[in-house]
Amino acid sequence: MRNYGVYLLWLYLPKKTSLTVGRLGTFSCSQGVYAYAGSAQRNLQQRLDRHRRLEKKLRWHIDYFRQAAQFLGVTVFLGAPKDGECRLAARLLSLPGAVLPIKGFGASDCLCASHLVLLPDSKPDLVALGNAVHDVELGAAETFTLFDTGD
Ligand SMILES: [Zn+2]
Repeated sequence: MRNYGVYLLWLYLPKKTSLTVGRLGTFSCSQGVYAYAGSAQRNLQQRLDRHRRLEKKLRWHIDYFRQAAQFLGVTVFLGAPKDGECRLAARLLSLPGAVLPIKGFGASDCLCASHLVLLPDSKPDLVALGNAVHDVELGAAETFTLFDTGD
């Protein structure tokens, strides 16, 4: 079983929230559905478990955001190479109505505008959202979407 690839976290911010994201700064974040593109080229399952947990040392930008957001689910591109996370981020920004909430979020080591995208018109109907990204071409990656019942 391959345990590496690229993933999208689907998160829901239930109300407008002022969030401090490490050294990036403090931001007022709108209520709504957010998607975050990431990559784990090893220990993917452990990474996803970590994103799901709230108790942890805050390390990445997404860890700070996660503290205020509900975990809705994840779309996994199993076996996709690292650059796939940037292609996914670009795809998210191109979805209808997509908003870039925090410039530079999750993009400390690449040239992307952000790896976090707000989809303000989306309900937490993630089947549709999952479908919107399933056709992103990430080589031989095998795609599937897992949804939580929330936390
Ligand atoms: Zn990037």
